[in-house]
Amino acid sequence: MAAVAYFDHAASTPMHPEVVEVMREFFEGCYANPTGAHRMARDARRATDDARDILAEALGARPAEIVFCGSGTEGDNLAVFGTAGEASPGGSGGTVVCSAVEHPAVLRPVEQLGGRVVGVDRGGMLDLDALAAALDGDVRLVSVMLANNETGVVWSLAEVAEVMARHAPGALLHTDAVQAFPWLDVAALATPADLISVSAHKFGGPKGVGALVVRDGVRLQAQIVGGGQEAERRGGTPNVAGIVGVGRAAEITVSRRAETVERVGRLRDRLADGLRAAVDGVIESGVHPASGAGAPVDRSAKVAGSCHLCFEGVESEALLFLAERGGVYASAASSCASGAEDPSHVLAAMGYPRSLARGSLRLSLGAASSEADVETALAVLPPAVAQLRRAAA
Ligand code: PLP
Repeated sequence: MAAVAYFDHAASTPMHPEVVEVMREFFEGCYANPTGAHRMARDARRATDDARDILAEALGARPAEIVFCGSGTEGDNLAVFGTAGEASPGGSGGTVVCSAVEHPAVLRPVEQLGGRVVGVDRGGMLDLDALAAALDGDVRLVSVMLANNETGVVWSLAEVAEVMARHAPGALLHTDAVQAFPWLDVAALATPADLISVSAHKFGGPKGVGALVVRDGVRLQAQIVGGGQEAERRGGTPNVAGIVGVGRAAEITVSRRAETVERVGRLRDRLADGLRAAVDGVIESGVHPASGAGAPVDRSAKVAGSCHLCFEGVESEALLFLAERGGVYASAASSCASGAEDPSHVLAAMGYPRSLARGSLRLSLGAASSEADVETALAVLPPAVAQLRRAAA
């Protein structure tokens, strides 16, 4: 494939070569089912236990609290469906609550259960007063993400937990930390959470492997039942190679995180500042000020890899087409939404008019992003926007 400037790391980021290497052994050599009794099975079991230890430490959990599963989506579903039906110790009901900007992996389950959805402000921050109003003794679970997959905006779980302690003290707190883990110390920031979900392919691990932290004492109803794997919380033969891969990817992510955040944050700022300077009529989400060139921009509410812009008078689909032609791969909203015909629910919740949301572009950077990528984007995107505006005039 020709070299591309890849700005879709929030959708999926490349695997670290060390992860590919360490997984190979579990496809080719140690291929046994880890539940078996013989030596190869014991080796496979030991490898998954080691990965469990590493991931637990990275998430501030105990190894027994880790439930390996098949994706971030599955972990989110398990958190919501798996706790909603369990009566709380105080005998409260099964009402579930989430924010309006959750990933569909949380939002859909909450909607299916007839739950309550809490709004955000124009900057993408959770409305804590609305959260307080949505809580009562019937609430079983509150699910709020740590970092948003479209805007990159980060929330304080400590503040959420404080509101919950006052208005729904018996409720559990779940956080979708899928987009947070590459950038933030989840172990520290998710301390108040009873359940935490992550996904390997967002931080240099393989696709199709996720994990849900289920704190000791939290009652969880398995959604896949069978052989009793993962301490009866998720049936199915474990994906040994994938689990080994997620362990190694977590280790690498944590050990390099400070350097990555520093370096990628600088690249992101150069990209966003450069686009704001080169193009009029750009709104950058989750920052202050949201528009205008030249003045220093405060991006401290966002993860380092996130650059999310809306171009007035432009359709994202057309912009993505021209971007790709210039070798720039990006996305309109999250990887699950489908472009201009379907403006993002996140931007709608933030009060963006449909006309502006239709021109959204998510440029998400990752550990592998380079200065050359940024320079390519800065050379390709401004003329593409100008071309589309001319065509529409
Ligand atoms: N949650 C968030 C915030 C995400 O960004 C994603 C993927 O984009 C998911 C959950 C789903 O993860 P997976 O792709 O592993 O199913």
